[in-house]
Amino acid sequence: MNNFILKTILLFAFFAFFSCENEPVAPSNKPYKAGVILSFDDAYINDWYATNQKLKKYGWKGTFFVCKINTLDISEVEKLIEMQKDGHEIAGHTYDHFNAVDYLRVHTMSEYMSKEIDPMLRLMNFYGLDVSTFAYPYGGRNKKLDAALLKKFKIIRGRAFCEHVAKKQGCYYDNSNLVFSFSIDDTHNHFNIPHLLELLEYAKKNNKILILNSHKTVEKVNGDYQTKNATLEYICKYIKSNNMNFYTLADVEKLQK
Ligand SMILES: [Zn+2]
Repeated sequence: MNNFILKTILLFAFFAFFSCENEPVAPSNKPYKAGVILSFDDAYINDWYATNQKLKKYGWKGTFFVCKINTLDISEVEKLIEMQKDGHEIAGHTYDHFNAVDYLRVHTMSEYMSKEIDPMLRLMNFYGLDVSTFAYPYGGRNKKLDAALLKKFKIIRGRAFCEHVAKKQGCYYDNSNLVFSFSIDDTHNHFNIPHLLELLEYAKKNNKILILNSHKTVEKVNGDYQTKNATLEYICKYIKSNNMNFYTLADVEKLQK
């Protein structure tokens, strides 16, 4: 009888042990190192190229969303190719920089694709630029556009709403193919160095990837849509001294696999 009780206890213990082992594990995303995506919009190739010469020493990486590729001269195209070889990502920002939402008020989606997206991809591919991600001009987007563009690009980028508190900002990568960025252009209402530092600290403490955007890179600001090289250097120094990563937008798509 004692033997029977012992066997019963052992049997229960056995099942209890294995049922614990087999408990469903809560789905968790693959962990990744905290970092930043520095993105740049429009066609300031010569300024970006000069900035790259300055910041190369930090081993930095940027994602450059280029519009109006048909207006660039050959030396600008060569600079983009060289930057791609340096490890930067060259990405799409439409052919003519129309606001997609406004354009669709008077045109069809297929007209948008054949006017703004397809010729851009054809010419950029012809130049050997490996385009796999996209940013909306003016951040103008809707769900219908997202669905159509995600058939052409692996990740698409809009613009984040601006909040005062870092954790409420929508500018951190959250494993989605639709991402939003925070503008570090000098005259952007919500930009200042203490707030930028707060966003970086939040990324570091919570293992997040902060997504920033800029336009023209300059030594001295003399208008809107300009980011100081000093701001970019501040970010590079922060990333290096905190052992964080520079990511391109195409890099984070690979984190999903
Ligand atoms: Zn733009």
